[in-house]
Amino acid sequence: MFRLVFVCLVLGNFLFASSMIEQNWEKGETLLTFFEKNSIPLSLYYDLDREDQELASEIVADVKFLMLKSDEGVLEQVLIPIGDELQIHITNTADKYEFTTIPIAYEQSDEVLSVQTALSPYQDIINATNNYLLAHEFIQAFQNSINFKALQKGDKVVVFYTKRTRLGKQYASPLIQAAMVELRGRPHFVFRYNDDRFYDVNAKEIEGFFLARPVNFTRISSSFTYKRWHPVLKKYRAHLGVDYAAPKGTPIKAAGDGKIAFAGTKNGYGKTVTINHQDSYKTLYAHMNGFAQGIRSGKWVKKGQVIGYVGSTGLSTGPHLHLGLYRGDRAINPASVVKVTKNALKGKEKEEFLRFSEGYKQKIQTALLEQNTPQKEKSFDYMVALE
Ligand SMILES: [Zn+2]
Repeated sequence: MFRLVFVCLVLGNFLFASSMIEQNWEKGETLLTFFEKNSIPLSLYYDLDREDQELASEIVADVKFLMLKSDEGVLEQVLIPIGDELQIHITNTADKYEFTTIPIAYEQSDEVLSVQTALSPYQDIINATNNYLLAHEFIQAFQNSINFKALQKGDKVVVFYTKRTRLGKQYASPLIQAAMVELRGRPHFVFRYNDDRFYDVNAKEIEGFFLARPVNFTRISSSFTYKRWHPVLKKYRAHLGVDYAAPKGTPIKAAGDGKIAFAGTKNGYGKTVTINHQDSYKTLYAHMNGFAQGIRSGKWVKKGQVIGYVGSTGLSTGPHLHLGLYRGDRAINPASVVKVTKNALKGKEKEEFLRFSEGYKQKIQTALLEQNTPQKEKSFDYMVALE
């Protein structure tokens, strides 16, 4: 069974006389220490380009990864997921090791749920679908615009969402595309627009968390991308943050209020600070020259407070700030969130959005009449599963 799974995962060649080992990535482990432990030449890491080395810094503790070993115990393949979309794939053929990044294959399907509230939207969604992650995403989507306590029994909830499935199991969080909740009979909407953010019917953003610009930069030297096929290099590239080029020593400010979760060296990212903010948002600041005084893990910081200075530590070709933004463990594009005030779409963009949201409003009307219930999830194992 496991071998079959591995074929699905890599669609590559593998030996039948091999065994697959699933492990959790240890806390504090880096790709380098992993290579050392498994006798993989360190040059494989040092020869990677900057983007791939940065990506290797994105491996999170406890993530499940796979190793394929021959009967003689020789490591043949390794698969390490980076976020929901990409995985590092290391292969060893005739003692030649190769590093590539490949997409994580999953299927997605569009689902519609409509229910009448009986207990709470959270509980009602779980009762209807067994899908805890969906219930969580639903609450997150609305928490800054409505007060759930004001809901009455019988108020209706409609959710359009994209469910991701991998090897027959639910994979990662579902993505809510549009949703409606009635509050004493009055409908409230959220729509996920093309920037991955939620807007209301008036084209106003309803996210609660906004980032202050963390640095005065000269230019954006590398923008955010989940995975893009590089036609010349013939491989997938990813950059889970935005690089702001700025002179060495430029102050870096906390993008929002929060608690410092990490201040130290994080291999390819060099001197790095991560801050936990409200609503499970997290920011990461990498390649710092140094930290501001008193900046250490556990300390609370205010939005705009200087936390460090631009540098070129870790793997970096010149002084810049690599800014990462995460919601839970999912990297999102900071560029769409870096602003001081709430964003409302205007002009042509607003017109386009209203056309887009109108389409969903009609679908929601239909769903209300139909009482859709998607197939219930089978198990309660909703964490990102790779097996
Ligand atoms: Zn970067």
